[in-house]
Amino acid sequence: MNDGARPALTNLTFVELQAWVVSLGEPAYRAQQIRQWLYQGLAQSFAEMTTLPLSLRQRLAEAATISAVQPQASLVSPDGLTEKVLLALPDGSTIESVLMLYEGRQTVCVSTQVGCPIGCTFCATGRSGYVRNLSAGEIVDQVLYFARQLKGRGLQVTNVVVMGMGEPFLNYAATWQALTTLHDPKGFALGARHMTISTAGIVPGIERLAKEPLQVGLAVSLHAPNDALRNQLVPINRKYPLGTLIPACQRYTEATGRRITFEYALINGVNDTPALARELAKLLKGMLCHVNLIPCNPGSGGECRPSPRQHVLAFQKQLKQAGIPNTLRVGRGIEIQAGCGELRSRAASEYVAGALDVSV
Ligand code: SAH
Ligand code: SF4
Repeated sequence: MNDGARPALTNLTFVELQAWVVSLGEPAYRAQQIRQWLYQGLAQSFAEMTTLPLSLRQRLAEAATISAVQPQASLVSPDGLTEKVLLALPDGSTIESVLMLYEGRQTVCVSTQVGCPIGCTFCATGRSGYVRNLSAGEIVDQVLYFARQLKGRGLQVTNVVVMGMGEPFLNYAATWQALTTLHDPKGFALGARHMTISTAGIVPGIERLAKEPLQVGLAVSLHAPNDALRNQLVPINRKYPLGTLIPACQRYTEATGRRITFEYALINGVNDTPALARELAKLLKGMLCHVNLIPCNPGSGGECRPSPRQHVLAFQKQLKQAGIPNTLRVGRGIEIQAGCGELRSRAASEYVAGALDVSV
């Protein structure tokens, strides 16, 4: 996004950054110095870029901006391991990003759209409607926001998951540019295998990703093993039904040699019976895949009542018996509404009430 006519530098590829620097009458090598300050020094202002002459820093500050995102509110889980932030964009839209701390890993979950047009029934973002795509810079800025915060604690972002608000494959170009920028070995230098894109099942996106040179991980949000149920839960299934989606996933694993993760949110009485688990096992039999079982996040209401533990264990047992690799993911940040789009929904209603205080 632009601030008036000033470009946000994180929105430029390195080649574009070089061209922009040259257009200011500066030598191209200045672009390398700026890249270093942005992605390694994690500079928040041009004033910090002390290897550049003072006059140039002043010119840059007049001509460009560094970050397009401004924190509005944040929620930290009681154990301090999950933090969700509501970020405002220059046009007044808001998005969410989440930081999750694990043993030796710091994972940032980024949004790719303001809202989402797909409208999954259990998802707070889906119910909030669609506003617009994010720019590459707005996606990168979410990671840099947490990277700066972690730096103060002597830590780094080790993983990025594209699992926040929005459908990344409906904003493919910006999402891919953002991941390429984050991967740049002379910049943020995040390994491709440390990045994962999650899709609701946009088949052309899966096909495109299979051809990309970077070994980025793929997760597919399945949530149902047959079309009748998936049409209800994930409406894009009507456009890309399982008969199209599963073969595309198979071609992806064959072309890349990489395993796919299938996400399955367990919703009480909707998609969590042993019979559906057996149907799921049959659907995925022989595929290079892993199933992530996630009891549905209860914060989002609607059709999303989380499965009780005995349903979850019975479902998992069926998959195990059929030899389908799976993990039961403990809902991170349930207590801070870290489900997709939930802080934003809450903030929106509380803005209306004029009482936004979501820090805990
Ligand atoms: N649009 C993409 C990526 C963002 S959603 C997608 O759908 O894959 C990231 C993940 O959160 C998806 O697997 C989605 O199904 C899941 N999700 C959304 N709302 C949820 C909820 N209330 N409980 C559990 N998982 C949820
Ligand atoms: Fe969009 Fe993903 Fe939410 Fe579905 S789950 S509405 S695709 S963000």
